[in-house]
Amino acid sequence: MSEGVMQADQPEVLEGEGKDLFSKFDDIIAMREGLLASGVEDPFSLVMEKVLSPTRAICNGRDTILLGTYNYMGMTFDPDVIDAGQQALADFGSGTTGSRVLNGTYQGHRECEDALREFYGMDHAMVFSTGYQANLGIISTIAGKGDYIVLDIDSHASIWDGCAMGNAEVVPFKHNDIEAMEKRLKRIPEGAGKLVILEGVYSMLGDVAPLKEMVRIARKNGAMVLVDEAHSMGFIGENGRGVVEDAGVMDDVDFIIGTFSKSVGTVGGFCVSNHPKFEIMRLVCRPYVFTASLPPSVVATAATSIRKLMSAKDKRDHLWQNSRRLHSGLKGLGFELGTDEPQSAIVAVIMPDLEKGAAMWSALLTEGLYVNLARPPATPANMTLLRCSLCAEHSSEEVETILGMFERAGKAVGIV
Ligand code: PMP
Repeated sequence: MSEGVMQADQPEVLEGEGKDLFSKFDDIIAMREGLLASGVEDPFSLVMEKVLSPTRAICNGRDTILLGTYNYMGMTFDPDVIDAGQQALADFGSGTTGSRVLNGTYQGHRECEDALREFYGMDHAMVFSTGYQANLGIISTIAGKGDYIVLDIDSHASIWDGCAMGNAEVVPFKHNDIEAMEKRLKRIPEGAGKLVILEGVYSMLGDVAPLKEMVRIARKNGAMVLVDEAHSMGFIGENGRGVVEDAGVMDDVDFIIGTFSKSVGTVGGFCVSNHPKFEIMRLVCRPYVFTASLPPSVVATAATSIRKLMSAKDKRDHLWQNSRRLHSGLKGLGFELGTDEPQSAIVAVIMPDLEKGAAMWSALLTEGLYVNLARPPATPANMTLLRCSLCAEHSSEEVETILGMFERAGKAVGIV
């Protein structure tokens, strides 16, 4: 059917009839148009024309250092990871075309869950199609109507969405404030179900939660505890198990949520737990049941990467070195940073406003450096941030080059 015929068949839509449901986006459309009118490149539609390694890509025809990925451990081009993915693609095909509870569990999904159980030393592991869905699924399924969720106000969108989907009473507390958390917990009615949700590393400022104390208080007040370790898996802790390991509270948390889209270097999400009834989640958790499972190549790359991350101490050490050097170098140049000391692989540079932030982002890209421009509502306290995330594959020389780029761009834009 030609377009002309299709149009002739359509009922006529009269202007002015009903409300345009897009009108709620007018403010954000105006903000975006204003930003682009100032002449900067669109920070939210960058295309990587070619990816050369975990730390370099061709952007706008130019060799660019990547300092704004979640590829913390640089596993995306690991030869063993790539081999495993190619083999699985050849042996099992391109996709499962089904849910985990029907035709979508292949040998590779089981092996991936075995690798996670081993990595965390936990009894149960459940793989989801993304980390977003892992939070959505676990939170909404365990905390329902009449239950209480006490969570940090700066929690990731997937955590908030999981809370909303489950319909529990949501009680936020001030970011990383132990006393505020305790106060909220004490106000919950006797006998109600309680879940405390924390993150190991908060991704906007790269700061770490005081998990030792928070987990102790949560337990003392009879709450179950879920920790999202998306930004610490593979890197923080003696064995890369995250802030939970570093704080010595592995045995005191009920659920650890994680993702394959950061240190693991592919896509997918998971939950690990020692709860004796955990396996029932496979039948009652809607974001697990009602979606297709991950492709065989993805679970094969994830399992291989997870196993390699168990013995990646040298990489972890080098990543810490990179994080410390970037942090002290940027501080020395006069930039305002999100944390006084480096606490993770994320170093957030605070910009005075969105216009200056976008100008700085653009100037860095012209220098050949990609960072993340983050703005509200993703950021806390209405901040505009240039979020830098380091990779274990950045060489020490690259970090020095990055500092030189920041110095030139910062002076050009008038920030330092
Ligand atoms: N939790 C946190 C803290 C995150 O930052 C993210 C993603 N940025 C997710 C969960 C979701 O992970 P995924 O990309 O696997 O959906």
